[in-house]
Amino acid sequence: MDLANVKALADLMRLHKPCVVLTGAGTSTESGLPDFRSPGSGVYSRLDPIESLSVEALRERPAHFWKCFADLFTLSPDLQPNRGHVALAELEREGYVSAVITQNIDGLHARAGSENVIEVHGGLRNCHCVACGRTYPLQTALSRLDEVDVPTCAVCAGLLRPDVVLFGDEMPDCYLDAAEAAASARLILVVGSSLTVSPANALAFAARRLAIINREPTLADAKASVIIRMEAGEALTALARQLLGEIQL
Ligand code: NAD
Repeated sequence: MDLANVKALADLMRLHKPCVVLTGAGTSTESGLPDFRSPGSGVYSRLDPIESLSVEALRERPAHFWKCFADLFTLSPDLQPNRGHVALAELEREGYVSAVITQNIDGLHARAGSENVIEVHGGLRNCHCVACGRTYPLQTALSRLDEVDVPTCAVCAGLLRPDVVLFGDEMPDCYLDAAEAAASARLILVVGSSLTVSPANALAFAARRLAIINREPTLADAKASVIIRMEAGEALTALARQLLGEIQL
């Protein structure tokens, strides 16, 4: 364990609280969801998400898009937040974290108890018709894939798409809330993100003060005051213990 850097991060957080946390797919790998870019286990070792999960893929190859999307994001009923999610929720409750800006679409921060979560890439709750805009539960579209290659609107037969930000999409309005929260933070803590996806990574690049928990180098390492190369769950648990004492996580 990199205890010296965990202690250094705890000191920074005491001094500059509350911080804003920016999370990526690496926060959820310990819950069993693969990230995109980890060598070997990341989704990129099987398919190119930019190729298969983009706006263009949805338009040009909708059956392929929906197959890839369902393969990656049909969440198991056993999926649970991990100790890293729980530690972040506890740090928010105790005033060390003001907001969690997440690139993840899995909903695990809210399920762990984080209250101010900004999902800049959307979530897996709903989908909508690209023609008439009607909204359906995403589960309805995913279960239709047993019978059809491409789920369509029950009213106008338009193509359905998940309410997540795809490669090639514009950012949703909540990105402005995220940018505002990040701009006013005296410290941004990045957890489990390669910081390669734009424009979410710009929030870290523009940080006044930056700390990073990630098991591999990221694009913003040169800017960070503290870097912890550990599993996110272990690092966040150790961090919460430094700041809050012995707590049950
Ligand atoms: P990424 O795959 O580009 O990077 C993940 C980073 O996390 C890697 O650098 C990896 O080394 C690190 N990492 C993985 N597991 C870790 C762990 N247990 N502890 C510490 N570090 C760990 O992910 P990204 O930067 O979030 O960008 C990918 C995009 O893909 C995001 O936009 C996200 O929306 C989407 N995505 C989301 C999910 C999800 O919702 N769970 C899953 C896959 C991809």
